[in-house]
Amino acid sequence: MYKFSEPIYITRPLLPRLAGIHDQLFEIWENKQVTNHGVKHAELQRELAAYLNVDQLVLFANGTLALLLGLKALQLHGEVITTPFTFPATLQALDWNGLTPVFCDIDPVTLNIDVSHIESLITDKTSAILGVHVFGNPCNMTGIQQIADKYNLKVIYDGAHAFGSYIDGKPIGSYGDMTMFSFHATKLFHTIEGGALTYKDKNLTQQLNQLKNFGLDDDGGVALSGLNAKMNEIQASVGLEVLKLIGDERLKRDKVMDVYQHMLGEVEGITIYTKLRGQESSYQYFVIGIHEKKFGRSRDWVHEELKTYNVFTKKYFYPLCSTFHWYNHLESAQPDKLAQAHSVVEQALALPLYGDLDIQSAIHICEIIRSFKK
Ligand SMILES: *Cc1c(COP(=O)(O)O)cnc(C)c1O
Repeated sequence: MYKFSEPIYITRPLLPRLAGIHDQLFEIWENKQVTNHGVKHAELQRELAAYLNVDQLVLFANGTLALLLGLKALQLHGEVITTPFTFPATLQALDWNGLTPVFCDIDPVTLNIDVSHIESLITDKTSAILGVHVFGNPCNMTGIQQIADKYNLKVIYDGAHAFGSYIDGKPIGSYGDMTMFSFHATKLFHTIEGGALTYKDKNLTQQLNQLKNFGLDDDGGVALSGLNAKMNEIQASVGLEVLKLIGDERLKRDKVMDVYQHMLGEVEGITIYTKLRGQESSYQYFVIGIHEKKFGRSRDWVHEELKTYNVFTKKYFYPLCSTFHWYNHLESAQPDKLAQAHSVVEQALALPLYGDLDIQSAIHICEIIRSFKK
């Protein structure tokens, strides 16, 4: 069996040509404004609002702070219904706002919050539903909005994996009250570290801009208890250059995903979780599920064994957020209430995906995985 001579990692940051970055830096050096909402920041904010096709967008230093301050701006209280199958940041943004998560089990196909369970979790303390578009699979946003309208709840989405997705012809950032995007270097579009909020209510703009800048207002006063979550000019200029490459990167990733889909889709015991038919993919991840009984090997075994071929995959997400020691006492965190999430978290495996991964390498990866089947 083929063995890679160089390690193949789960992802690689999309890096623009240095000449482009140099030109951007030259302009910043000329302006002598390196942070605090400069021209690059304004330009990126405009370009991203246009790219994501939304009316309101505010940039932040990273996605976690964007979500944390977005939740604060919505003035939530008490409990927020969310998913255990996400990155820790989703929960940590709740925690830093003093909000208690109520964990909802997931749909085994989309891996997102299972709308049919939400209503039974609502109490008089519930103030919002926080969904995550896991691996770019969109939540059932119509279903979530219906429940939110009925109970007067806010709806927030962690769209860290869903950059540029369209659902039923509508941009994903236009659903719910607010959507967070992460621009971390591992994400398709990135600013090395960075993030943004898109949101419905225009009146939040001033507040969000204050919250990310120590709560300062224009008159030198302190209007709010904010913090420092500003994106600097160098981050913004990296974003401006990366944005030019996104279209091409998507096409390249699409070819890799096609190989994975064709070579692994029919293998007994392997489920493909991403790029669900009929929905525009965000090309962020390609994730399979390995069913130990049907495949003959466990996900953990495959994950370890692939390393001996120099292929580094990721158990993503792992572990479940409901098992964190500061949450595991919650009634909603009990494993018997989260059966699907507990099953999926033992099966999911993200495969290497980035535009520069050549087709032949993707074929080798599939051949190696197929050779493991018992
Ligand atoms: C990356 C990610 C985050 C955190 O974003 P940062 O920009 O790294 O702070 C939050 N939620 C999910 C689902 C993510 O994948």
